[in-house]
Amino acid sequence: MTENRVTIQEKLARAYGSSDLRDYDMPCAVQKIIASGMVGVREGVALSLFRLKYSNDKSAYKEALVGVRRYVWRIGAKQKWPIEDAHGLALAEFAKRVLDYWLDDVCKPCAGRGYEKVPYTPMLSDKLCEFCEGEGKARYADDHKWRARSRDVLEMIAEAERRAGAKMIAKLAQNFGAGD
Ligand SMILES: [Zn+2]
Repeated sequence: MTENRVTIQEKLARAYGSSDLRDYDMPCAVQKIIASGMVGVREGVALSLFRLKYSNDKSAYKEALVGVRRYVWRIGAKQKWPIEDAHGLALAEFAKRVLDYWLDDVCKPCAGRGYEKVPYTPMLSDKLCEFCEGEGKARYADDHKWRARSRDVLEMIAEAERRAGAKMIAKLAQNFGAGD
């Protein structure tokens, strides 16, 4: 994750989350960019993902899911995934699971810290969490085959995020003279 990505996501979160824009100088600009469709037309999926994850805008879920399904179809068609495998996991359901995982992939047992607590204290030990092995990220839950497939979809989501984020930063720089 680069600095730029965090920055643009923070700006977006503010732009979407704030009803009082006086506190910030950038959200108006971000909102203008989004409202004008300068980035959104071709990056609609990424924008709905941004809204959903970083602004906690639940109304974007449906749109984000439609977008992730489209990614699943695209990759699935290329790699000839079965529409439904022996376990009955349909691609539509798979898309939902990947989206839900992307939204919240924090390892629950260690709360993302990566280390186990010292028993009966709030302090962290130097022992790696046995569930995530120190990564702080939960494992995608389905079997290994679907887990491998989920990586392809997550990579496509990450790519869309990078692309849309870069476009927004470029627009901000263009409109305000600095990349901020
Ligand atoms: Zn863990």
